[in-house]
Amino acid sequence: MKTHQFVVVGGGLAGLSAAIEAKKRGIDVALISKVHPVRSHSGAAQGGINAALANAEGGKDDSPDRHAYDTIKGSDFLADQDAVKIMTDAAPGVIFRMEHAGCPFSRTPEGKIAQRPFGGAGYPRTCYGTDKTGHYLLQTLFEQAVKHNVTFYSEWFVTKLVVRDGRCQGVICFDLESGDFIPVGASATMFATGGSGRVYSTNTTNAHTSTGLGVSLAYWAGVPIKDFEFVQFHPTGLYPSSILMTEGCRGEGGYLINNKGERFMKNYVSEKIMELAPRDITSRAIQTEINQGRGFEDAYVHLDLRHLGEAKIMERLPGIRDLSMSFVNVDPIKEPIPVRPSQHYTMGGIDTNEKTETEIQGFYAAGECACASVHGANRLGGNSLLDTIVFGEIGGGVVSEYLPNAPSPAEKVMNDALAEEEVRFQSLSKGSGNENAYQLKNELSAVMLERVGIFRNKKDMEMACQSVRNLKARFEKILPIKTNKKFNYDFLWVTEIAGNLDAAQMVAEGAVAREESRGAHFRTDFPKRNDQEWLKHTICRYTPDGPQLSYKAVKLGLYAPEERKY
Ligand SMILES: Cc1cc2nc3c(=O)[nH]c(=O)nc-3n(C[C@H](O)[C@H](O)[C@H](O)COP(=O)(O)OP(=O)(O)OC[C@H]3O[C@@H](n4cnc5c(N)ncnc54)[C@H](O)[C@@H]3O)c2cc1C
Repeated sequence: MKTHQFVVVGGGLAGLSAAIEAKKRGIDVALISKVHPVRSHSGAAQGGINAALANAEGGKDDSPDRHAYDTIKGSDFLADQDAVKIMTDAAPGVIFRMEHAGCPFSRTPEGKIAQRPFGGAGYPRTCYGTDKTGHYLLQTLFEQAVKHNVTFYSEWFVTKLVVRDGRCQGVICFDLESGDFIPVGASATMFATGGSGRVYSTNTTNAHTSTGLGVSLAYWAGVPIKDFEFVQFHPTGLYPSSILMTEGCRGEGGYLINNKGERFMKNYVSEKIMELAPRDITSRAIQTEINQGRGFEDAYVHLDLRHLGEAKIMERLPGIRDLSMSFVNVDPIKEPIPVRPSQHYTMGGIDTNEKTETEIQGFYAAGECACASVHGANRLGGNSLLDTIVFGEIGGGVVSEYLPNAPSPAEKVMNDALAEEEVRFQSLSKGSGNENAYQLKNELSAVMLERVGIFRNKKDMEMACQSVRNLKARFEKILPIKTNKKFNYDFLWVTEIAGNLDAAQMVAEGAVAREESRGAHFRTDFPKRNDQEWLKHTICRYTPDGPQLSYKAVKLGLYAPEERKY
């Protein structure tokens, strides 16, 4: 067994931030990641990171409080306002720390950090490095983690969170290279395992690594999961691959056009806002145009950048041009890009407070797998990268203060958990079923997309809940997995699929129960927000028969809920 004071699972921005912060405070930290940290999905982030720096023309009056207001309004008032305030107050400091650590942000002509407008933001507040912001931030933080001597276990796949005797004692890992299970005991464990987009894998911007298994591992260990029904669809996924075309395209002035040649957003929001409406509203608008026959091939609309001109596209959106040319053979300098809404972000996650603490002693969560909750029912673009670094750093600090008096992991507990995983592997490899797990996964994604997507209703969602239950029952009878020791990706993916099934079940069951529309959760049978009954967070707790739902209050205090108009 390996033992560290603090184990972080996840090498994206949240995990790296937590590890660096704790290491700076003298803690023995190990960071475990199923892929090499710089291959974490944070590296795919494009458009930017929000902070009220007031650098841009038209943004001089911006402030952290205005950032907080926009975030809370964007969340359709489901966000916990204390956590939002912490995040927006911390934002400028985060940007300066990243800049000092070497992150190559784009610049204004006078040399300040450049900022672009993003949806739902009252001011141009999104700091960016062309359209590769996540890549730059991830490299910057990885360098810092190396500099501070964080211990890395790369290509170690966590298959179990060990919670025994009322506290978290570490994790069980599967070392992909050797094929061995390895217990890693710790007095404090943090999950920073990223989003769950692959539950919708037929139409998502998320990488294959964003499976949601981290959330399911926590759920299976008894940790409550919050607001998992809130799933963000980004308005502009490339058609048909769903690769993201950043909101920065519209921030730089891109238009959305239907088959009549109209900038149709004028029919959904004020002419002042147009393409810079929040994502929930813009995605519904695009899907409505497509559903009502004003799309192209009944499948997509156009994102038109041509009027921005070659120089601006090459300077601010070079990656978008590359992707569009490589994947659909469209040069945005000359032609509009085909786009459709695609699953993009998981607003819900492991239930934490504003200090990244969960209900379980010694277990913490930060980043997209966590729900603090700063995004409520709809995240604003540019706020997720911020969330990862702010709460990663906070978590690293909180854990460092907890550790001096924290109990150590018990070797017997860790060895018992190890034995359970070895038995699970054996039983998966000796199964006599005939169901193909990968086929089940494809069916799951199709059901979720069709019945728990942008527009939802009771009948469809009840059918989805039933389908997920059936798929889970069929999963009990899957074909035996491969037994090779080295790089046994069959074991990895079958474990991921088990997580997908329960993650999907939490989305569907939470969504059918919530009889209102709020942010990204839009019900055609309950089209209005209902604060009287539903201004509350959904909590899912694991039971063998499916999630047990309960509710808890939203923390208000700064801004009273009001009708959301743009
Ligand atoms: C295409 C795209 C573009 C985006 N652009 C922006 C943007 O411009 N601005 C913005 O604010 N947000 C953006 N987002 C959202 C943002 O990038 C993510 O929410 C954020 O980067 C998530 O970071 P994270 O640290 O929580 O997780 P990730 O970066 O996803 O990292 C997860 C880590 O967990 C590890 N892991 C997971 N499960 C296990 C396991 N079982 N065992 C071991 N390791 C495990 C993985 O290996 C990985 O290291 C974008 C998202 C996408 C998909």
